[in-house]
This record gives sequence, structure tokens and C-alpha cells, in this order.
Amino acid sequence: MWPVPAAKRGTAGRAEGMAGFEMIKEDGLTYFLVSGWYEEGALAVFSTRRGGLSGGSYATLNLSFRVGDEAATVRENRRRLARALGIPVERWVAGAQVHGSRVAEVGEAEAGQGAMRAEDAIAAADGLVTRLPRLALVGLFADCVPLLFFRRFPPAVAVIHAGWRGTVAGIAQAAVDALCCEPGAGPADLKVAIGPSIGPCCYIVGEEVVAGLRALLGPEVETVVFPEGQRWRVDLAQANVLALRRRGVAAEQISLFSRCTACHPEWFYSHRRDGGRSGRFAALVSLF
Ligand SMILES: [Zn+2]
Repeated sequence: MWPVPAAKRGTAGRAEGMAGFEMIKEDGLTYFLVSGWYEEGALAVFSTRRGGLSGGSYATLNLSFRVGDEAATVRENRRRLARALGIPVERWVAGAQVHGSRVAEVGEAEAGQGAMRAEDAIAAADGLVTRLPRLALVGLFADCVPLLFFRRFPPAVAVIHAGWRGTVAGIAQAAVDALCCEPGAGPADLKVAIGPSIGPCCYIVGEEVVAGLRALLGPEVETVVFPEGQRWRVDLAQANVLALRRRGVAAEQISLFSRCTACHPEWFYSHRRDGGRSGRFAALVSLF
């Protein structure tokens, strides 16, 4: 077992207005815990920017080695989150995110890859899945949609990085397929938590995004794209919900974090809001 996290020590608070998530404050860090998964055998969290050492536009808990921040500072930030969660960094695995749709299965051989430097991250993997306990899958975000998956039996977890390109390429469905490829496991057995991402309030895009989503979702696309002059407001998180539902995951299996990254600088990094010079927060999931 992992050491018991704060949520089980009585310091948890409900995330205001957000069913399915609890806000945890511990050791100066603030993070959001997916409610109910821990009791069933998975720790699933979304970190915030609070509680780290980074300065300037990376302030403070930047977890990415690839955005221009000091590597030593990022390593210390990662150690802080690891301590708060009780999951040693040596047991983290991270993918090199390329806005693709590849979901890589990882196990003991990959433990620690991408954990303390970017160079050995799992190549070209915007999705990671594992059936191994005590291995934490980590994705990094600043507007793109983070999806965490949990199947209680047979146990498995996944983390998915879905920007518009990955969404259009079908990475959410690829994760469902990766978790449903064995007897006795179907889409109805999955739980999905969709974390903080940029909302339609702040995400205005061109026709190429809408065309891609139309190809993915068919007529349902009209419920997630909204004309804005010559451009479009897009609800990318909801597009992923629709994509999951088309693959057999019901709405009640999905928890959706309902705060926009760009609207909440006190909690989250936002690539758009910060003009491309921004840190990254993490989505992390582990069986234990
Ligand atoms: Zn917004």
C-alpha cells in the first residue's frame, strides 16, 4: 500500500461546486483528488501551481522539463508532489507528449522513465496505460484535456493528454480500446475523470478544429462548437465526453472538472492565457 494520503487523514475539503473532486491542501501544495477512486484501489489527482519553487510565469509548481524552467527546480517540484502523495518519483512514468493518439502500455521496465528528466520519457506517447500496481502514470497540462481512467477489475489505469489534435485523432477512444482488450472487461467497467482544461469561455479556434471534430462526432458536434464571428468557441472537454460515449462509456461513469484553466490563474497554468510561456501541472494516477 502507498502511505495514506491526506484525503484519508481528515484534511480533505469538497471542491466547491465540483462533484467528483476534493481539494486537498498539504505541505503548502494544493491538489484535486478524484473522489471515490481511492477507496476502490486507485490514487488519482490533478496538481495545481501552488506549493513549488519556480518563479515568474512558471510560478510555482511547474512540473515540466520542456518549457524553459530550471531543471533542478522542476526536479524539486516533482519531489514535493511525490512526498505529498506518498508516491516516490522513482515510481513515476511520463510520456513525451506530441499531440498524437498513441497509447503505450508500461510496466516495471519503464518505472522512472520521464520522471527526473525529459530525455528518457516514453517516446511519442500521449497516452499511458498500466496494469501494474505502485506505478504512477503522469501527464502534463496547460489547457489540453487531461483524462484519467480506472478499471477496478481486472485492475488497470491510464492517463491521456488530449489537445484538439489528439481529440480529433481519437485518443480517448484509443484509451477505451486499450483498457477493453481482455476478456471480461468492457467500457461499462471504466471510470473516467476529466481534469482542468481550457473552457469554451476562452478557447476560440479556426475551422480546421471544427472540421476535425465534425469528422469525429458527426451531427453531435453542434453541441460542443459555437460560432464566434469567423471563428468558433469549442468545448474540448465535452467533445471528449461525447467521444467516450460513442465508445460505450456512459455519462454517469465520467467525472468532469468544471473550471477553466485560463479563467483560474490562481490554480492552473494556461498556455493560451500566458502567451505560450507557461508551466505545466500534472494529472497522475496509480493503482496501489
Ligand atoms: Zn475560461
